[in-house]
Amino acid sequence: MSDVSKPQPLGGNEMPRFGGITTFMRLPGTTAPADLDVAVVGVPFDIGTSNRPGARFGPRGIRSESVLIRPYNMATRAAPFDSLAIDDIGDVATNPYNLADSILRIEAHYNELLSHDLKTISIGGDHTIALPILRAMAAKHGPVGMVHVDAHTDINDTMFGERIAHGTPFRRAVEEGLLDPQRVVQIGVRGTGYAADDFDWSRDQGFRVVQVEECWHRSLEPLMNEVRQKVGGGKVYLSFDIDGLDPSVAPGTGTPEIGGLTGVQALEIIRGCYGLDLVGADLVEVAPAYDASGNTSLLAANLLYEMICVLPGVERRLV
Ligand code: MN
Ligand code: MN
Repeated sequence: MSDVSKPQPLGGNEMPRFGGITTFMRLPGTTAPADLDVAVVGVPFDIGTSNRPGARFGPRGIRSESVLIRPYNMATRAAPFDSLAIDDIGDVATNPYNLADSILRIEAHYNELLSHDLKTISIGGDHTIALPILRAMAAKHGPVGMVHVDAHTDINDTMFGERIAHGTPFRRAVEEGLLDPQRVVQIGVRGTGYAADDFDWSRDQGFRVVQVEECWHRSLEPLMNEVRQKVGGGKVYLSFDIDGLDPSVAPGTGTPEIGGLTGVQALEIIRGCYGLDLVGADLVEVAPAYDASGNTSLLAANLLYEMICVLPGVERRLV
């Protein structure tokens, strides 16, 4: 039974699932950060994108498709809303006319949130947002390990001469000492490069780079055993770019690459993070306008729910 002392998703028999104000999973949306263990945060921002824009609508689209998700995880038996105080606290007020100012605003917002000793589940937004979030995470926790799912390594030095864009956050994060490079894994990387050694910078830092071909046609449970060994032993951040998945299951994104991960493999990766000392997670690069079916946002909403289910402190029913 639900613990009514904690925020609970509104049930489909109390208000139809297509009714009510659209928070993530129909949570109350009224809890102060000081009273939360986990804050769900929208970051509507896409002026760091290189190709199709539209991820600014990710938080809204994902919240809309999250209305069908029920509280208990029938596969892992996780009971997140009985275990932790979790609520949707709304969006960061990004500046749509100024990338640099938006980055400062996001960092300040997360610094304030983390002062309450909570964990953040972030709904992007393009991948640029990972940099200010990691700055706040490192300010609180020191350098963190990272599980990074993506078609791209996002370690460019510059894009069009700019040092902050959606393809550069993890280069900056290493330079700024936000990541422990020996505890970083990138999964799903693929596609075409500007140079044959494009993925080598990551490997030279100590990252484990798992190109997608290593994942094709197989369960990722064995890989995740290795990943937990690699990134464990300290605080870990999970950054999940929806374009890590194949465009056939996640077409609603700005820089799609063929031959990607499956939806089931995405579940295996996130569920495989159970046991890690996660301090936060994000799901980025959903641009709902490129998927009229809503399935990309639906998938993203469920992956965010699965991330909540693997946070430390979430209990699993044994019987
Ligand atoms: Mn990315
Ligand atoms: Mn990507």
